[in-house]
Amino acid sequence: MPLPLCTLSSQAHHCLRALKSVKKDCLPPLCIARWASTSSVPRITTHYTIHSRNKDKRWEGVNMERFAEEADVVIVGAGPAGLSAAIRLKQLANEYGKEVRVCLVEKAAQIGAHTLSGACLEPRALEELLPDWKERGAPLQTPVTEDKFGILTKNSRIPVPILPGLPMTNHGNYIVRLGHFVNWLGEQAEALGVEVYPGYAAAEVLFHEDGSVKGIATNDVGIQKDGAPKTNFERGLELHAKVTFFAEGCHGHLAKQLYNRYNLREKCQPQSYGIGLKELWLIDEKKWKPGRVEHTVGWPLDRHTYGGSFLYHLNEGEPLVALGFVVGLDYQNPYLSPFKEFQRWKHHPSVEPTFEGGKRIAYGARALNEGGFQSIPKLTFPGGVLIGCSPGFMNVPKIKGTHTAMKSGMLASEAVFNQLTNENLQSKTIGLDVPEYEENLKKSWVWKELYSVRNIRPSCHGVLGVYGGMIYTGIFYWILRGMEPWTLKHPGPDSDQLKPAKDCTPIEYPKPDGKISFDLLSSVALSGTNHEHDQPPHLTLKDDSVPVNKNLAIYDGPEQRFCPAGVYEYVPLETGEGLRLQINAQNCVHCKTCDIKDPSQNINWVVPEGGGGPAYNGM
Ligand SMILES: Cc1cc2nc3c(=O)[nH]c(=O)nc-3n(C[C@H](O)[C@H](O)[C@H](O)COP(=O)(O)OP(=O)(O)OC[C@H]3O[C@@H](n4cnc5c(N)ncnc54)[C@H](O)[C@@H]3O)c2cc1C
Ligand code: SF4
Repeated sequence: MPLPLCTLSSQAHHCLRALKSVKKDCLPPLCIARWASTSSVPRITTHYTIHSRNKDKRWEGVNMERFAEEADVVIVGAGPAGLSAAIRLKQLANEYGKEVRVCLVEKAAQIGAHTLSGACLEPRALEELLPDWKERGAPLQTPVTEDKFGILTKNSRIPVPILPGLPMTNHGNYIVRLGHFVNWLGEQAEALGVEVYPGYAAAEVLFHEDGSVKGIATNDVGIQKDGAPKTNFERGLELHAKVTFFAEGCHGHLAKQLYNRYNLREKCQPQSYGIGLKELWLIDEKKWKPGRVEHTVGWPLDRHTYGGSFLYHLNEGEPLVALGFVVGLDYQNPYLSPFKEFQRWKHHPSVEPTFEGGKRIAYGARALNEGGFQSIPKLTFPGGVLIGCSPGFMNVPKIKGTHTAMKSGMLASEAVFNQLTNENLQSKTIGLDVPEYEENLKKSWVWKELYSVRNIRPSCHGVLGVYGGMIYTGIFYWILRGMEPWTLKHPGPDSDQLKPAKDCTPIEYPKPDGKISFDLLSSVALSGTNHEHDQPPHLTLKDDSVPVNKNLAIYDGPEQRFCPAGVYEYVPLETGEGLRLQINAQNCVHCKTCDIKDPSQNINWVVPEGGGGPAYNGM
């Protein structure tokens, strides 16, 4: 069970709201000074990635040696990309009679427990990887039978026809619970001899002296909240490999370090992102239309805020629907709460009837890439490759990245296998460089697909906003199929897009009714999220004074709203003279939104103790 959020939060929120509406007579004395000076900032971050243990007396004499294992390939992340890569490597090894040791680490306690997606799956890559997936019992039980798309205004829904060939066409696709699909892929991988280690988070990239990647280290366990070692402290394990695959999914924290170290983003545009919030519901059987796929854009978002909804009717023996709401993280108003936008979307007159009489059974959130073709970094470097949503192969107008993630993993494995088994190979570095992966990816259908839709997302930045994007799709995509000779740009990092609170209008969200819409606490409880409470918060701050002095002062503390799990709260200081940031790290659902959207870029998400995080069942 997640630990309760701070009981003072509602008081703090109330104070902030009261300040905004200048009802001075309602203000309790605590809120008169909203932020503390830097000198009196209470310590928030205790993590060793910020406060080195080398000079900390509490760590003197603690054995810091690590046990090391050698493999041919180490894969970080058991998502569609990592598992497809692992399967492909072992298929090739078996086919050519070679011994290739493949180890895969996954931070979730069970494969699929941190996976969150829509998900409408395009089976193209699966057909290539495991053509007999039906016989193997893959959990693809719901072929899409009906596609609906609509623009919502406050009170009505304008249906939009989905012409064949438009990105939103789902004919031939399957509605799946991606966590279950990934779990099944894990079983296939293990059957082929892949060593799969759930519950182990890769915390650190290891390097050879020649600068190439040597492998990864899993995280240390047994550290107190204040950063001191516990009696059961255990050092992480080193996994060395000839090539390490980074398949952490969207905004991987190790990939972030690799971008800097190898300058991998030098020639591409900054990645842009969305946050996707999702629920599973059991609905009234009469309203259940197995195989139906519905998407909307428009209300409750304004035209300059990119986003929309999905509603998928599954066919798994009970009237189950997956619904969600995506908000582009380039939004500008710091008062916006993606969670509350999602909750109020469910009250639209064309949406609410579906949920009346139903029961919500699951909740979660995850960031997704929206930069597309323009934001793909260099994919290879000595000793490592980036695959899947880590570098970002999401087809944004389709809202699909599973098939491209899988294919990228397969292509990487084919290139790496050739190198591993090349007896004449003369490598300049100990960790192998495999540029052939990127070359082959550029010749594959992944590249072609992403190139053809490259201008759709950036076309939403014009005066007409999202509607401009729809017009662009109609004219240029449908007719020219992406053959137009120009490539549009994104506006820049999402963290730079927020406007100061003083230039924006606060958004009044309706109170949840507890039937169709819900509060954050009861939502997070449905994600099954759990972390060992007595460990340093894995949401680390480079500077503990920045949240209050900058984020709260200028942007009215947007982390309170963009975090879909209520991790960040501004609460009154014990001295009664202002507010401090409280981090309820145990509620974190690992969506990575704070690391992306923090306007100060002061938050660095690092892995918590392995196994911690959400416990999704088929999200
Ligand atoms: C709301 C939403 C809706 C979507 N809808 C669709 C859809 O309908 N169809 C579609 O095709 N795609 C959809 N996508 C995109 C799709 O989910 C992704 O493209 C796909 O999951 C990418 O696969 P991946 O393996 O690259 O990353 P992920 O699926 O994110 O997997 C990464 C794995 O790595 C693990 N990991 C991360 N860091 C570490 C670490 N340091 N150590 C160990 N393990 C680690 C994670 O726990 C996770 O299991 C959607 C995404 C979202 C968020
Ligand atoms: S703390 Fe960050 S990563 Fe965790 S749920 Fe909140 S926004 Fe997502």
